[in-house]
Amino acid sequence: MGYDAFVRCNCYELGKTKPFKYSQFIKTYPECLYLELPDVLPKTVKESKEKIKELYNEWYCSNPCEHEDMDFCNEWIANVSGMGWLKSCIYWLGGEKEFPALGTQLPDYNDGFMPIKFNNQFRDDLKRFIEKKLTTYYLETKDCNWYIEGNAGNEIDELLCKNDDIELHSYKGKIRIEKNKNVIFEANKFSVEKINDNKYIYAAENNKIEIPIFHMPHIFDKQKKLNFYFEEQNWNMKDEFKFKYNTFIKLLDASDKTGNPICWC
Ligand SMILES: [Zn+2]
Repeated sequence: MGYDAFVRCNCYELGKTKPFKYSQFIKTYPECLYLELPDVLPKTVKESKEKIKELYNEWYCSNPCEHEDMDFCNEWIANVSGMGWLKSCIYWLGGEKEFPALGTQLPDYNDGFMPIKFNNQFRDDLKRFIEKKLTTYYLETKDCNWYIEGNAGNEIDELLCKNDDIELHSYKGKIRIEKNKNVIFEANKFSVEKINDNKYIYAAENNKIEIPIFHMPHIFDKQKKLNFYFEEQNWNMKDEFKFKYNTFIKLLDASDKTGNPICWC
């Protein structure tokens, strides 16, 4: 399973396909041509519906234009994790606010299409996106080799969990604990000791507090005390997504040229 995309050619609209006897019944859609027969055929049509369907299938399968399957462009984009990684980076770099089309128009499923009114914005978004660099911070613990979910991007202040007036945040490579909106603990390297289900001791160089929450309590199943640290990772979008960038540009060019939208499949 993965993500592909194609742009249908416009040979039919341009009259560049082999002639089809019953072209009055061909309807054009963004993704394909479709034979749509009325309930009752006009009297001038002498052949049966079945026969017309058969003729249409023959015509369609005979490569009626220069493009295989009438695709002007057909490209593999990404596997599932590749698409997930791309979407995460877009989100961390500002999401739809920064990239109005790129942040909203990528496919969630293997169908549908991007209306062509988004083409220019999508191209513009891509060009800015590919020039970006991103720093991410992963909260990690060596003791049980566990990444904590909610990998915080550079500018995302992420609420990991809360309990009444206490909130646990991850932001710019630090864990931050607030009580009634006042910061009571902040560190990028710290230990957490579980005393019981409602008591954890957070300790850093110059700070030690006792609070009732931790983001993922089950990681204390085997050990009662763990050391955590934020690991910084730097990413260059050009290195990460050059192939996808080129693929999207190819698809956009095809869409602009044919007037047909990029279809996901
Ligand atoms: Zn064609």
